[in-house]
Amino acid sequence: MCYSTEIRMFQSTIRQPVETQGIGLHTGVHTHLRLLPAPPDTGIVFRRVDLDNFRIEAHGDNVARVSYATSLMKQGVLLSTTEHLLAAAYSYGIDNIFIDIDNIEIPILDGSAEPFLQMLDQAGIRRLRRKRRYLKVRKPVEVVEDGRRIGIYPANLFLVRCYVDFPHPLVGQQQVEMIVNPDSFRQVLSRARTFCFESDIEPLRSMGLIRGGSLDNAIVLTHNGVMNGPLRFPDEFGRHKALDLIGDLDLVGLPLLGRVEARKAGHSLHTQLVSRLLADSSAWEVTTSDDAFHALESHQRPAESFTAAD
Ligand SMILES: [Zn+2]
Repeated sequence: MCYSTEIRMFQSTIRQPVETQGIGLHTGVHTHLRLLPAPPDTGIVFRRVDLDNFRIEAHGDNVARVSYATSLMKQGVLLSTTEHLLAAAYSYGIDNIFIDIDNIEIPILDGSAEPFLQMLDQAGIRRLRRKRRYLKVRKPVEVVEDGRRIGIYPANLFLVRCYVDFPHPLVGQQQVEMIVNPDSFRQVLSRARTFCFESDIEPLRSMGLIRGGSLDNAIVLTHNGVMNGPLRFPDEFGRHKALDLIGDLDLVGLPLLGRVEARKAGHSLHTQLVSRLLADSSAWEVTTSDDAFHALESHQRPAESFTAAD
């Protein structure tokens, strides 16, 4: 069994800068986005180039208001809708990168993470000499709220199970369960797009949201169908929620060794879990890639113990 795509020994960054531009889903602002190589132990760092390169680290300490997207805020500087780009960078195994943007929201592009993966493909990966560190979960941490819940549990790899249940004929109950690595993310999740219900459009607009939303960047569900089909997958909705979940978990700040189960969760619960985990230092430890690799070799494959609890 080859674990090379699950446990990486060395940190990485990208090989060369790449850029794109587009509008933000919620604000509708036009933003230029540039990804640049960064040195070891930088982490994932946003820089507002319109504000003297003001830095906002992709970290739970900087989570701001969270409703229909995840926003970061530091010293009053806001950055919105980080989740799809962070999901791509995290799943790709990028440890260090500068993300330069000249406005307040990451472009939504086609509503999925695929355009960001294509950028990373174009940029290429550069391995660095510094050993990778992992955040290894030692005991369960859970958040429960009104029939929704999310928890993270000890494991030797990063696994997610994401369950959604929307009362809609095209959605209903959908579940995604996977070991997260670059290949599984690309194949299973990366192309799944943002979605919304037609009945939510006016309420969201009146809240000042989805000003950049269109049939080109979100699936719109009517009361019994889809306005802009075809879907990319029959369970595109469940897949997109898992994509969002991974993007939010990136805010832990290190690659995770743990099993995450989310049930009817969303950005608010995802980021509450990140905050609660980071706040309880008895629930995790920072481990080296050597230790992570040896733990994996000496234990049974976690997928075998990853059985349904419902
Ligand atoms: Zn999303």
